[in-house]
Amino acid sequence: MRKHIVAGNWKMNNDLAQTKSLISELKKQHQTSNAEVMIAPSFTNLMSAFEALKGLEIQVIAQNMHFAESGAYTGEVSADMLKSIGVQTVILGHSERRAYFNETDELLAKKVDSALKSKLRVIFCFGEELKDRKAGNHETIVESQIKNALFHLKANAFESIVMAYEPVWAIGTGETASPEQAQEMHAFIRKTLANEYGKEVADSISILYGGSVKPSNAKEIFSKPDVDGGLIGGAALNAEDFYAIVNAF
Ligand code: PEP
Repeated sequence: MRKHIVAGNWKMNNDLAQTKSLISELKKQHQTSNAEVMIAPSFTNLMSAFEALKGLEIQVIAQNMHFAESGAYTGEVSADMLKSIGVQTVILGHSERRAYFNETDELLAKKVDSALKSKLRVIFCFGEELKDRKAGNHETIVESQIKNALFHLKANAFESIVMAYEPVWAIGTGETASPEQAQEMHAFIRKTLANEYGKEVADSISILYGGSVKPSNAKEIFSKPDVDGGLIGGAALNAEDFYAIVNAF
């Protein structure tokens, strides 16, 4: 079902003590909200995040996983391992995974399958690079990322998919897509989904925007009709900023 979601991607930040400290700051800011609120600490701190957040409506989610069920994949973590500690949602396809770990659409299709098989919800990230935007190819790139990684799925699988449009040029750069650019792309994404799966499916999917969302721009971005929330990087590392963004709904 389409929902408002604000998810904080902590990336490779915060050791155990810092995780506990940020969570205690988040708890001070927490109040009932119109959005589902999620944080994605590193693998090593997922368990302590769960413990620290017991009873609160802040979901603890994972930043990544391997596609295999188990086996000789040193250093990797499987969907079932995440499930076994209570994780319900995993971020897949983040542009940093694509850029630094060579994650391709084909690999991501396998990860999506594995996550869904283990009944994890997927926040699927995609977005164009600056050169694509400058060349006017942004829609073609985004369409192919979505098709290649997701269009082998049956329509009902989209009950467990959240889309996260993150233009690479806006991630961690301080440069945000304008609310109009975000809306234009989100509408295009919904149209792409509608063409393949029908309007009902497309209208039921949450599409998040990610890329330098901050307290000062969240309200305007979230006011756009096809923007259902945000995937937040830098600003998620500060409890006050993160909750200012959550409260923008
Ligand atoms: C992200 O990493 O998903 C992200 C959107 O980062 P930032 O908010 O820092 O641009």
